[in-house]
Amino acid sequence: MDAHCLFCKIVAGEIPATLVATNELAIAFNDISPVAPTHLLVIPKAHYENVGELTREDSASLVAMLALAEQVAAGQDFRMVFNSGAGVGQSVFHAHGHVLAGRDFAWPPG
Ligand code: AMP
Ligand code: ZN
Repeated sequence: MDAHCLFCKIVAGEIPATLVATNELAIAFNDISPVAPTHLLVIPKAHYENVGELTREDSASLVAMLALAEQVAAGQDFRMVFNSGAGVGQSVFHAHGHVLAGRDFAWPPG
């Protein structure tokens, strides 16, 4: 756990979040500022700065996140987004995937 990390505090229960699903290695909760009717975040319980570090160091947690994404999408078509780096909009530096569903999505993304 990183004592200064917002998402580590959510994993630890120190900051409230609307938990939707969990498994051994990952949790899913509602994004506080949703941009789609379904907008959840799936995160590893362990702290990694971004999806690249997570992939290199703990692929089991990555797979656990993807399993939760499919579970919380509940059969809807969904888009999954990993912002990796401040230059593309990453604002919380604990790896997370956005699970978005329930409306139309442009391709290519804006
Ligand atoms: P990113 O910009 O990809 O790093 O995404 C971070 C996401 O975390 C944003 O969509 C925020 O709305 C979301 N977020 C920030 N704080 C919280 C919180 N306390 N609970 C739930 N989601 C949050
Ligand atoms: Zn963290």
